[in-house]
Amino acid sequence: MRRIDFTNTQVASSETARDINRSVVLNLIRRRQPISRADLARVSGLQRSTVSLITEQLIEQRWVVNGPTGRLPRGRRPTFLRLNEKRAILVADIRPAQTTVGLADVNGEFLSQQAFPTPKDAAAGAQRIAQEVNELRKAYPRLIFEGIGVSLPGRYDEAASRVIFAPNLKWGEFDLKGSLEKATRLRVELENAANACVLAEIWFRPAEHTRDMVVVTVSEGIGTGIFLNGQLMRGAHGMAGEFGHVALNPAGPKCTCGGQGCWEVYASNRAAIREYQASVKNAERLTFQDLLSRSNSGDSIASEALDKMAHAVGQGMRMLVAGLAPSEIVVVGECTAQWERFGPIIEAEVAAGILFGKPPRIRPAEGSMARLRGTVALVLQKHFGPSANVEEETKVSQKKAAR
Ligand SMILES: [Zn+2]
Repeated sequence: MRRIDFTNTQVASSETARDINRSVVLNLIRRRQPISRADLARVSGLQRSTVSLITEQLIEQRWVVNGPTGRLPRGRRPTFLRLNEKRAILVADIRPAQTTVGLADVNGEFLSQQAFPTPKDAAAGAQRIAQEVNELRKAYPRLIFEGIGVSLPGRYDEAASRVIFAPNLKWGEFDLKGSLEKATRLRVELENAANACVLAEIWFRPAEHTRDMVVVTVSEGIGTGIFLNGQLMRGAHGMAGEFGHVALNPAGPKCTCGGQGCWEVYASNRAAIREYQASVKNAERLTFQDLLSRSNSGDSIASEALDKMAHAVGQGMRMLVAGLAPSEIVVVGECTAQWERFGPIIEAEVAAGILFGKPPRIRPAEGSMARLRGTVALVLQKHFGPSANVEEETKVSQKKAAR
């Protein structure tokens, strides 16, 4: 994510100021569209002439188009502006078993998406994704393709340009960005799945202004995306957030990372399946969905396995709460389909470990869309700049100036 350091005023050239103003205007259009130039000036606090200059440039660059004509009580009819829906973003959500490739417009609305089994190795995976992407481009010749966003069940080391640490994917270290860019000639952005969910939350939930949030993805493994003080934390090698591989019991069952007794060994979908299989015969091919439906139809062993998993999810979250103090935890995963079972157990476990103040709000989010929309934001943020709370911060600075 591009960051602007407002404390470093010495290097703030007029070019930086122009970039900030452009990003403020573009984000206001995104959040409030359709919006008139007069309202843009009023809300941003920028001069009318500055707004006109920036919007003309955005129209020329085909990021913004003139929308419908508005009606004012006293005769004048302003032209509204909105984002250009012809700007399209291609996305791929790679999961250990299944990969989804899709096409969305600049507002995160999906025009197409389809899934296929995830190929066994990295080269075949990159080839298949590139093939699907190129077919989508042929099918929509009138769109302007901005780039490809990829969500991964692993981490992307930006400095080394390599996918690293993807123990549930088993593709090994590889340069997915390079091979996709070569095969498609489009710019490719990669991000961890939990971080992609964070981006989806801060981009596509305009009413929310959370500045401290952790997304916990519960599926084949456990991932976390950390958003603190209004910024996504990536850390050295992009490895921040691997709480799923902190050992809760060093003598516990083996984990895919090579360790033993990690949080995800007890709290992932696989933990519940393993628990069930320990007591029920002929359940080798059972999926997590099967387990949910068995529990729904009164199988008490299935319900117990799910409850045990829910307790483990909540117990591990105590690490997040004690260490990061988020005001909100968002849970993404198949277990959210039975939130009435999982939610209360997780909340009680977290509440029992609170050191001070109120426990964070814990809420479920729909998983597959969160990852896909997060990758749309991943590509867009290169152009929109710091987006999350731009509007809020503009208002704050206006209030300060008015004093
Ligand atoms: Zn582990």
